[in-house]
Amino acid sequence: MSEKSREAQEKGANLVRFKCIKCGECCRRKGLIVTVTGRDIARFSSTLGMTAPELLRALDFYVLPENGTAPKGLRDTPLLKTESGNAYMALRKMDSGDCIFLKDNQCMIHPIRPFVCRTFPFVFRDIAGEMKWGFSSMKDICPGIGEGSEVSEQELVELGIAALEDLTIYGEFAEAWNDTTAEPTAIGFLEAILSDVRFSV
Ligand code: SF4
Ligand code: SF4
Repeated sequence: MSEKSREAQEKGANLVRFKCIKCGECCRRKGLIVTVTGRDIARFSSTLGMTAPELLRALDFYVLPENGTAPKGLRDTPLLKTESGNAYMALRKMDSGDCIFLKDNQCMIHPIRPFVCRTFPFVFRDIAGEMKWGFSSMKDICPGIGEGSEVSEQELVELGIAALEDLTIYGEFAEAWNDTTAEPTAIGFLEAILSDVRFSV
């Protein structure tokens, strides 16, 4: 276990009970944007054999209006330059609000689902070098909170450290993309992810 992980463990956390009861609510909500990171994209590509154009069809780029503020819940996710403006990369949703990978209320890609799906309803932040956890702003839709046994500190710490590492690498990549790419396009961003060794899985 890393030093950071040990420190976070020593500080302790208020334990909660949680068990995913597989209701699918978080996969169906219109207002819940399922953001994806570079590692998520690379995993989809290596496991499902998806090319950049195929990935593009499974994704949406949510454009932030000029002078708009980031919606709550997306503030830790990097904004990317695209041909349509600054956008967040997320899984496509059907008009009903269903995630594109939801079928018969089951996740079709469960073993390789995005990190944000693995961590929901928890969220993690690095505050002055210290890992903090809390609940998603959409926590009220989740009937699994309060069910099952207590989530151990170790589980939270391990999940949080992995989530923050994932976001950090993706954030650095997105920043470099925004700073250096002359003609940013969504497909170009996906191609750049697939050719970057940091996302090799
Ligand atoms: S809303 Fe909560 S209980 Fe329902 S599928 Fe999502 S994480 Fe599991
Ligand atoms: S990827 Fe799977 S777990 Fe995540 S929102 Fe879509 S259907 Fe739900």
